[in-house]
Amino acid sequence: MDIQRIRKIFEDTAYVRTGGSEEELRAARYLVRTLESLGLSAQIVPFEVPMSQIREAVFLADGKEIPCKGYLCAGSGTVEAPFYYLRNTDPCSLSRCKGKIVMIDGYLGYWIYQDLLENGAVGFVTYDGNANYADRDIDQRELRSYVHKGNRIPGVNINAKDAIALIRAGTSSAKLVLDQEETLGQSHNVILDLPGETEQYIAFTAHYDSTSLSQGAYDNMSGSIGLLGLAEYFAGHSHRCGLKFIWCGSEERGLLGSKAFCAGEEAVKDCLLNINLDMIGSIMGKFIGCVTGEEKLCHYIEYLAAEEGFGIQVSQDVYSSDSTPFADRGIPAVSFARAAPGNTATIHNSYDTMAVISCDQMVRDIDFITAFAARMANACRCPAAREMPDNMKEKLDIYLCRKRDKK
Ligand SMILES: [Zn+2]
Repeated sequence: MDIQRIRKIFEDTAYVRTGGSEEELRAARYLVRTLESLGLSAQIVPFEVPMSQIREAVFLADGKEIPCKGYLCAGSGTVEAPFYYLRNTDPCSLSRCKGKIVMIDGYLGYWIYQDLLENGAVGFVTYDGNANYADRDIDQRELRSYVHKGNRIPGVNINAKDAIALIRAGTSSAKLVLDQEETLGQSHNVILDLPGETEQYIAFTAHYDSTSLSQGAYDNMSGSIGLLGLAEYFAGHSHRCGLKFIWCGSEERGLLGSKAFCAGEEAVKDCLLNINLDMIGSIMGKFIGCVTGEEKLCHYIEYLAAEEGFGIQVSQDVYSSDSTPFADRGIPAVSFARAAPGNTATIHNSYDTMAVISCDQMVRDIDFITAFAARMANACRCPAAREMPDNMKEKLDIYLCRKRDKK
């Protein structure tokens, strides 16, 4: 991948492409055509995802209408109730949620949603954006099926500036109106197979979808381009084991593409290793490797990076990306990223454009990942054990909401 080509791909894909949308499919087709231009033939593989069209979303605070976006897949209904801002999540604070429309800080995760339900909340409000930014953008959020498990209350997302104003004004009552049409739709993985001398294969992943306000240049067209670079390299170089490249759809909606790929016994039985790229090539920031697998692999990557003269920080952990469904199937998984400081590049908003990317840095990051991948792809026997250590099993249980983090 040379700099001109990298820049062209960023320019061609500078649009929002949320999981299951027409634009996501447009990006999938674009990836297929780009691979064709490299002489490679990839498949678009669909999988089912819940979809929703909001007909009406209204949030009234003490009778005043506040700009909002309704939560997708959160059902339809109207609730009118006292308003409560849940600042802390201790049992006493939670007990005051009963019969109220509750505003929370941060992201509506699995455990906080269970807390709201258990404590009798009748609706919820989240807020995002940044009170110090000039925009009043509101991200389109979704009540994920693994979060609600059939138990739904209506909710909206608002801008942080309005959230602050609500508290400053001492808001005491609220009304939520949510009306939406829910259907089953399709998202797509783009899959390229490069057979090797053995049945066993390495799975390379990078998601190409974005969130609702974002062109997703950094998160994660950068990784998708990295995967194109790897595919281009291996099309012209030997590799002992097979290679599968998966550009995943709907990662931002809960790793749905990689979960779809990993579903079933057959799909991953011959998978030796997952190499995942999520956010590389930023102008600023350090390169990191995250190994969900045995710790030895961290040291191997550190040694290789030293040999190559490439700066890296490697840790053994779970990375919130498409590597996780592989790791959960016992496959060692490595995620690579260049982590930009938050005041130089942010994601999941309208600021994630190619302005935060360096095409030169993209080339250097892809070169290092290629060096690692080439070692693994030509190993006599993949050195990373196909076995998840207990500390990683524990972290996977927490990440996948099977166990609650005590902290
Ligand atoms: Zn991402």
